Parts: sequence; C-alpha cells; structure tokens
Amino acid sequence: MSPMRYELVTIFPELIESATRAGLLGKAVETGLVEFRCVSPRQFTTDKHQSVDDAPYGGGSGMVMSVVPLTAACEHLDAEADARSQPRAHRILLTPAGKRFEQADAERLAKLPALMFVCGRYEGIDDRLRPLMHEELSLGDFVLNGGEVAALAMIESTARLLPGMIGNDASLHEESHSAGVLEYPQFTRPREFRGQTVPEVLLSGNHALIARYRRQQALLRTREQRPDLFARLTLSKEDRALLASFDEKPEPPAPGA
Ligand code: SAM
Repeated sequence: MSPMRYELVTIFPELIESATRAGLLGKAVETGLVEFRCVSPRQFTTDKHQSVDDAPYGGGSGMVMSVVPLTAACEHLDAEADARSQPRAHRILLTPAGKRFEQADAERLAKLPALMFVCGRYEGIDDRLRPLMHEELSLGDFVLNGGEVAALAMIESTARLLPGMIGNDASLHEESHSAGVLEYPQFTRPREFRGQTVPEVLLSGNHALIARYRRQQALLRTREQRPDLFARLTLSKEDRALLASFDEKPEPPAPGA
C-alpha cells in the first residue's frame, strides 16, 4: 500500500520535522506507512530578504502572508506529485475561522491518499488563497501563533487511524469520541494508590460484567464532563438501564459523616 502523504506549506519546516521524528509517527515514517514533504514559501520569493509577508491593504496592525509565494508552494507540491504519478493532495487551510476539527474529520481525512496543510503565520493570510483550498479547518476556538501545531494535531489524529499504525487496532474503537462517548476510566498497577483502589469488577475476570461496567462509566463520564456530547447520543435500552442503576444507588455517606 502507498504511504499516506502529508504535505506542509510552512515557513518553519523544522517544527514539523522534529515532531515527526519521534514516537509512533517517527516509526511510521521508518516503516513507510506515512511520508512527509515540507515546503517553505520562502523558496518561492524573489527579493533578497525572501519576504513572505507584507503590510495589509487598508492599514491595520501586523503583517499579512502574501498569496504569491504560498500559491507557488502549493503548486510546487502538486507538480511533484504529478511527476511521481501520485495523486495530488487534498488542500487544507489552517485558520481559526475554519470549521472546528473533530474526530469525524480525522476519520474522513484518514481515508484520503494525501493531505496538504497550509500553515499561516503573522496576522493571517491574503484571502485570495482561499479559492485554492478544498477546505478550511480550525483546531479550536483559540488563536495560535501559526498553523504548524494545528497541522501536527491533525496529522497525529489521522495517522493513528491508518491500518497498521497502532499495534492494537481494536483499541481505536474504544477511544474517546470514536463512538460519541468519552472513554471509560483506565487503571493499571498498583491496585491501591494513596487510598484509591481499582474497582473490584476489573479484577473479577468476568468479561461481560467488565464490559457493562465500562459502558456505564463511559456514559456517566460523558454525561458529567461533556453534556453537549451526551445530548447528541442515542441511548439504547441497555444504556438507559445502566444509567438508571447508577442513579438509583443511594448516595455514599459524606467523608467524616
Ligand atoms: N488574525 C488571525 C485571526 O484573527 O483569525 C489569526 C492569525 S494567527 C496569529 C496566524 C496563523 O495561525 C493563522 O493564519 C493560522 O494558519 C494559524 N492558526 C491560528 N489559530 C489557529 C487555529 N485555532 N486553528 C488552526 N490554525 C490556526
């Protein structure tokens, strides 16, 4: 199978390169599961300072990234793909004004053969780059200094969905957000830590009981920590029964009572 290709347009390729040498991503590069191409728009400038930004028309604070070298960088990556007879990448503009990135986007994008992330800096990017993009994504409702960290988050969350990336692919289906609920609580040794013990059911060896307990905990955690996600869930009869059995339990006595 051809590797998933991640292309980045960034003036800080070193940020991407250091992050993609470590951990599972680094291993995926070594085994040929993913590949990276970074291009800096500075390579496509014509002035001696290799400027990629300029003052905004109409005035205002800060500088704006010029559409000319950014377009040239995107087209260079496409030309490279053409020369190798590879499919061109799906172009993503990183911007806090984009659609908020979610697990469903990771699942959708992980199915594509190649993704291109265009990382802005300064006060943003000349708006005329937008028609060249297939979509605009935001990492969340906050402002970063640049698109690189957002790109890396999207790269990690898509790469870990690629077949063969995670040793145990089954664990992907149990993770937070994969089925609309947060993950159940996890424990490992020691059995007791500062007075907190591992729930007895997890030591029982009874797989059916453990599955029920985990589903109940996932539902409770989602209801408590992410009521917005909980409101979107379609609860089965079993789910409702699991929640009811928790809600009907008497409150434990308050500490010291
Ligand atoms: N002035 C811009 C605005 O208010 O929308 C913010 C510019 S920001 C300092 C510089 C670059 O960082 C953006 O062009 C974008 O590529 C990236 N960036 C910042 N926040 C982001 C976010 N939440 N998601 C994705 N990219 C972001």
